[in-house]
Amino acid sequence: MSHNLRSGLYETSPLYQNAVMDLEMAGKTMGLSSNVLDRLKMPKKAMCVSIPVRMDDGSVKTFEGYRVQHSTTLGPGKGGIRFHPEVNLSEVSALAMLMTMKCSLVGLPLGGAKGGIRVDPSQLSRAEQQALTRRFTMEIISMIGPEQDIPAPDVGTDGQHMAWMMDTYSMAKGHAVPGVVTGKPMEIGGSAGRPESTGRGVVYVIEHAIELLKKQNKADFKLNQCTAAVHGFGKVGTVAADELAMRGCKVVAVSDFFGGIYDKNGLDLKDVNAYMSKNRTLKGYPKAEAITNEQLIGLNVDILVPAAIDGVITRENMKNVKAKIISEGANGPITSEAQQYLESQGVYIIPDILANAGGVIVSYFEWVQGLQQFFWNEKEVNEKLAEIMARAFHRVAGNAEKFNCGMKTAALITSVERLSQAMLLRGLFP
Ligand code: NAD
Repeated sequence: MSHNLRSGLYETSPLYQNAVMDLEMAGKTMGLSSNVLDRLKMPKKAMCVSIPVRMDDGSVKTFEGYRVQHSTTLGPGKGGIRFHPEVNLSEVSALAMLMTMKCSLVGLPLGGAKGGIRVDPSQLSRAEQQALTRRFTMEIISMIGPEQDIPAPDVGTDGQHMAWMMDTYSMAKGHAVPGVVTGKPMEIGGSAGRPESTGRGVVYVIEHAIELLKKQNKADFKLNQCTAAVHGFGKVGTVAADELAMRGCKVVAVSDFFGGIYDKNGLDLKDVNAYMSKNRTLKGYPKAEAITNEQLIGLNVDILVPAAIDGVITRENMKNVKAKIISEGANGPITSEAQQYLESQGVYIIPDILANAGGVIVSYFEWVQGLQQFFWNEKEVNEKLAEIMARAFHRVAGNAEKFNCGMKTAALITSVERLSQAMLLRGLFP
């Protein structure tokens, strides 16, 4: 019987509550022992830090930051660092849990972790962001390391932030330690194909889904005849949109924090990307119709890629969704309730821990290449990525059939099968 003695510290966010609900559903479907289930519901370790930063105007502002390790059963913790005004301990803990599930699902020797700072990075200068990143790294230095816990970029951070983290850690250790982070620029040990990996993976699994639906006589799509909308035109969304367009799919809408743009004939993504690079937003893009993020979610398209943040498709708007396939580029973009509703309506949802696993897979490649000091070219990286994504997709689809459940539950079952075996083999200390 499952006990319920937790303090509630971790459980305040809808993302955490959804993650636990999804886990319980998977546990029930696969008959998981409550000993294991209870351990997986709570992170292994969490650190809350305050980060004072001298701003450009001479004042000092203090920010709150977190690093959470959900599980290190399979290997060092692995997970991104998020800079976003909504970051809190509960959300970071939920994201760390998703990382554990993701790494286990795709068979990596890594655990799950996440970190973040409650900040709107667009309000900070480059110098302020550097100071924030460096002080944060020092505050969490006892928790991170190539054999302990390896951060990466997430919402609001990129290769530059990872370079600052790597440099700060290396200064403290007295020698260069490139393996402390992944998602680094190529010049300091990053991997070819890492920036594009998540968006690519999001599209690889759409291709597998289309093949599978045809094989099962459930639907007969051709990607080059499909339309798509991408919510969140950041590191994941831009690449997913490009990869879809490269395969002949018509990307009719994309959006960012401020809203979206729509062209029923398909957007000229090269032009949109150029506008975005110059203006750092899609707002005001002159060659397409302006729409809201909510309108984008409800567009009549074949494929929807939510690639911004969590909690985007909920009870409030789930009935507006018309897409037939959703590939979750973001972590937790669909609440448990909305997911169950959409699956009951025949929408094929490729869950986050599978769909966006490309990033952590190539992060793993980066870590391996760094340890060996032997680097692969982009073609090799992409081939290895495609192979792992394909294997994971088919294992999840196999479990969906075996347990007669949706892909989300099947993905969690696939990952918990491996993880629980590892937990049982390692046993409980002391
Ligand atoms: P990013 O910061 O590069 O891009 C995020 C995009 O979403 C931006 O266009 C931003 O304007 C938009 N956005 C933010 N809040 C929004 C809102 N409320 N409504 C609409 N749009 C909003 O971040 P990213 O790295 O592309 O990450 C996006 C998602 O993918 C996150 O959930 C992240 O955890 C997940 N993810 C990222 C990676 C990776 O490799 N970067 C890997 C796995 C999962």
